[in-house]
Amino acid sequence: MEAIVNKDIEREYRIKSTGMGMAYYGSCERCGKPCQITYKQQSKKANAVGNSWSSAGFGHVECLRNGRWADAKVDHDA
Ligand SMILES: [Zn+2]
Repeated sequence: MEAIVNKDIEREYRIKSTGMGMAYYGSCERCGKPCQITYKQQSKKANAVGNSWSSAGFGHVECLRNGRWADAKVDHDA
């Protein structure tokens, strides 16, 4: 039963392109500099149904690669 509980907590992490830049998102949340293309940190429960990603930080890929996203894969497709 414990395995099921752990699966609920376990999350997947990724950094994904929004396909849009400053005009929509403004400057990078982390460094305050302009982004040509804004990326977002996303996570979802490993056992989530469907495409239920939730977003965290917005900005440059290099600025978002920290904490739980340090090894996250980068998805360049918007
Ligand atoms: Zn930045």
